[in-house]
Order: sequence, then structure tokens, then C-alpha cells
Amino acid sequence: MTHSSEIAFCDSEVAFCGTNVIVVTSTVPVRATSRREKVSRWATALGITRLVEWLARRPALLVINYHRVGDPTADGYDSALVEATGDEFDAQVAVLKRRFPIVELPEVQEMVARRIEVRHPCVLLTFDDGYRDNHDVALPILRAHGVRAAFFLTTKLVGSARIAWWDQVAFMLRRTRRTTIQLEYPQLARWDLSEAPLERVIQEALRLCKKQEPVDLDRFVAGVELACDVARPNEGARMFMSWDEARALVAAGMGIGSHTHGHEFLARLSPEAQRDECGRSRDIIRENLGITVDALSYPFGSRASFSDVTYRCLEQTGYRTAFSYYGGINVPPVAERFNVERFNLDRSPLSHYRLRVGLAIATGRPIW
Ligand SMILES: [Zn+2]
Repeated sequence: MTHSSEIAFCDSEVAFCGTNVIVVTSTVPVRATSRREKVSRWATALGITRLVEWLARRPALLVINYHRVGDPTADGYDSALVEATGDEFDAQVAVLKRRFPIVELPEVQEMVARRIEVRHPCVLLTFDDGYRDNHDVALPILRAHGVRAAFFLTTKLVGSARIAWWDQVAFMLRRTRRTTIQLEYPQLARWDLSEAPLERVIQEALRLCKKQEPVDLDRFVAGVELACDVARPNEGARMFMSWDEARALVAAGMGIGSHTHGHEFLARLSPEAQRDECGRSRDIIRENLGITVDALSYPFGSRASFSDVTYRCLEQTGYRTAFSYYGGINVPPVAERFNVERFNLDRSPLSHYRLRVGLAIATGRPIW
């Protein structure tokens, strides 16, 4: 989870009170995405999407990041991480493949290391966290299209039946019978579930833990447990891929990278702990897959989630490239090697997806 995947809740009202933030429920129940979808439908009907796609010729490296592909309602966890159903992903890959060269992780690493300027738009597809559906749903689609993506594994989660903290939080909020949820930690926050859309509440609650300040995640999850009066699910049906499944990705020619060992907010850690997170995941992948990875994607991926200290730790532990996730595209000269920018396209109809990809290239920045 990088959780910079933003569902655009433009109507969210947030009141700042000193250092504390009280999240006030919005009275506007309409999701901004529905407005964006309407705009994209009109854009398609009026031929604007085709025009934007025709104009989208600026040299750029687009790295589009996914977390999960499948049925967003299937397991009741953090559905915002499901960026596409299988059918939607299939259509997205088909559109991208028809319009752009889809490059592979080693090509991008070479491009960045040798500062090779791209002369046309090209796309790399990446997946963070190592969810099982990456193997079960995304891999067959990628193989059918002859496309190779890159998968960044959180080694502590590979093969485990653990439920990640962000999925635990979503699970409890979905099942609570309480109408008011109040959290005291890491800051005061309150939602009225009779008014606020649940998906928004889940994302706002998760966002409380994505800041630079250290957060005791166990204390935060315990607070959600208490506020919801729902026990946290510690284990369940396996959600993350096994090492055998990761080996199948390697056998299919997919790129593999590290998403650290414990999915930590690296910049909050001491240099020693950062080195351990980066080095340990690399060692574990080598032991289990017999390959040496030298690319990493930062958990959370915001600008605050890594620093110059992180860069040194990456160098010391053998990495060549690292990917951020705060919503950028790479225009020549191609990015810093430890900050190749990625962005996310949250779940939307194909017309909207096409429009956003076209606009990102035409303008040099992701526009939602
Ligand atoms: Zn992640």
C-alpha cells in the first residue's frame, strides 16, 4: 500500500485546530469521481478524448502503479487499493499497448542510470505490496498481452496469512455498528457515519498515518478497534502472494523489486533501521527467488517518506533505482535514480482512464 492513491474527495471539509485535526463530516454525498466520470463521458462523446490522445506525444516516461486487480467488493478490506477489475485491467493494458511502447523494469533502470532521454511517451506498469491477486488475476492478463510489469514485494508479507494494518482498519470501519467514530490518536478525528460516505472515512482515517511524524501503528489500530467496537482481524484467507507465486512471476519474465521488508515509512527510521529494511528484503528475495533485486519502491511513496539518508542507505545496500509515488510523470531529462516518479489511476471507466493518461502526457503532469 502506498496510499497516495487518492480518491478525489474535493468536498471534504477538514477543520484544523492547532496541531490537532478534527475531520468534519461532509454533507455532500456525491463522490467527486462521479463528476469526473461524467466529464470523461462527455469528452469521449465530443471527440475530446481522441484529440487529447492525438496531442499526447510529449516525450515522457509514465510509470503507472497498481496495488490490486480483482473484485473490490470481494473481501471487505481497503477497496481503494483495487484499481481495476480483471476486465478493466485487460482493457487498460490493451489501450496502453496499442498507443505506447510498454517498457520493462531493466530498461527503465538503464534509462535512468545512463540518463537516456526518451524521445516519445512510454509506459512502465508496476505493482506494490505483493497482493495475491497480482499473481492470480493480473499475471494471466499481462501474459496474454505479452506485457511485462514490475512487482515490488513486501517481504514480511509474502506467503503469510497476515492482514495488513490498512486492511484491518478498513475491515473494522465497514463492520462497525457505531454511527460516530472518534479517534484520539495520532490526532483527534471524528466522523459521523450516518452522513459521511464510508469510503471517504476509511481513506481519511488511513491518511492520519501517512504523515512524516512517527506513528505507533499498533496504537492507532487499537484505537480504531475501540472506536468501532469490532475486533481487528489478524489473520484470514491469504491475501499476499506466496514465494511459489512470486517464482511464477519471475518465470514469466516479470520484473521484481523490493517494497522493503516491513512496509515502513523509511524516513521516520534511523539510518540503521532503514538499511535493515532495504537490505533484509533484498536478502530474503535472493534466498527465495534466486535473483538479486536492485530496484525498490518506497512504502507510502510521498515526498516525506524518503530522504537523502534513505538514498545513502539504498546505495549501501546495493540498489540502483527507487520509485516514489506522489503523483508525477518523468519528462526529460529522466528522473533522479532514487526518485523515479509514479502515479496511480484509481478505478474508473476506460474512457476516464484514457483521458487521464492522455492529459498526463500532454501536460507533463497527472491531472485527475
Ligand atoms: Zn505499499
